[in-house]
Amino acid sequence: MPARRIIGVDMGGTKLLAGVVDGGFEVHHRAQRRLSGLDQSALLDIAVDAVQEARESAGAEIAAVGFGIPCTFDQRTGTAVSSVHLPLHNIAFGDVMTERLGLPVFVDNDANVAALAEQRSGAARGSSEAVLLTIGTGIGSGLILRNQLYRGAIGAAGELGHMVIDEDGPRCQGHCPNRGCLEALASGSALEREAARIARARPDSGLGRAVARGREPVGPLVTELAHDGDQAAIETLAVIGRHLGVGITNIVNIFNPEVVIIGGGVIAAGELLLAPARAVVAERALSPSRDEVRIVAARFGVEAGMIGAAVLAFDGAAARGEAA
Ligand SMILES: [Zn+2]
Repeated sequence: MPARRIIGVDMGGTKLLAGVVDGGFEVHHRAQRRLSGLDQSALLDIAVDAVQEARESAGAEIAAVGFGIPCTFDQRTGTAVSSVHLPLHNIAFGDVMTERLGLPVFVDNDANVAALAEQRSGAARGSSEAVLLTIGTGIGSGLILRNQLYRGAIGAAGELGHMVIDEDGPRCQGHCPNRGCLEALASGSALEREAARIARARPDSGLGRAVARGREPVGPLVTELAHDGDQAAIETLAVIGRHLGVGITNIVNIFNPEVVIIGGGVIAAGELLLAPARAVVAERALSPSRDEVRIVAARFGVEAGMIGAAVLAFDGAAARGEAA
């Protein structure tokens, strides 16, 4: 019998990545699409087209398709309710895709599926209690509790990026009505704001000179300068790392996880971000949780969502097979 494969699809804020994934979580074929400036119907067309391309190149039977999308969900109705970064609103995404693709479709929040990937074969492998924070433009999160994804009463749980760490802090992003959220203070967007502020305050630093020459104060620039030893860039990452540490302190006190995994683009900064975060947790979280928790970088980089979406679909297809 030919090995059955799954197509995992990660729909990020600006691009879609689809891949044919086998049972060992190896990726065999990939299809990419840009997602900027679309309406909902064009977005769905592009997703269908990318899956078809991956399916044609697969050379094996496709058992199911998994999607990770940056959305809140109402699992009672299978509805993707709202997305900060994509034109998706109150749509029965799984039903629509099942009909258009003619394959079983499983869908969940992109950070949830990234957490699944890390727990199944990444930095949280073997951990029954794990929390993933994925730091990009915003902060997504996935909670693994008692060895399972925790989704809450109706499927909207785990929005840890919107925990408040400063009651009077800056306004949050997108549709979030709150202020002082972890996302407002430790996301890639917050990093850019902090980098711009520090560049202005320290015009003679490497960061200050780069910004004065017209470079955008974005994460990759700050990370590159910090790795080269620029103190202003290092301090920028430390500020963000300390905010992150306050958020992780709350996570550690509430969930007593074995591991907190940090993923997303911003983790390219590595220890320059993680060390200040760990120092804050050591100082502020309660013992004994703080003494045991590991705070580590994610194993899977940009493919975490795609592989996690495949894990979701493997699990879903297996559960349906057993039920039949
Ligand atoms: Zn928020």
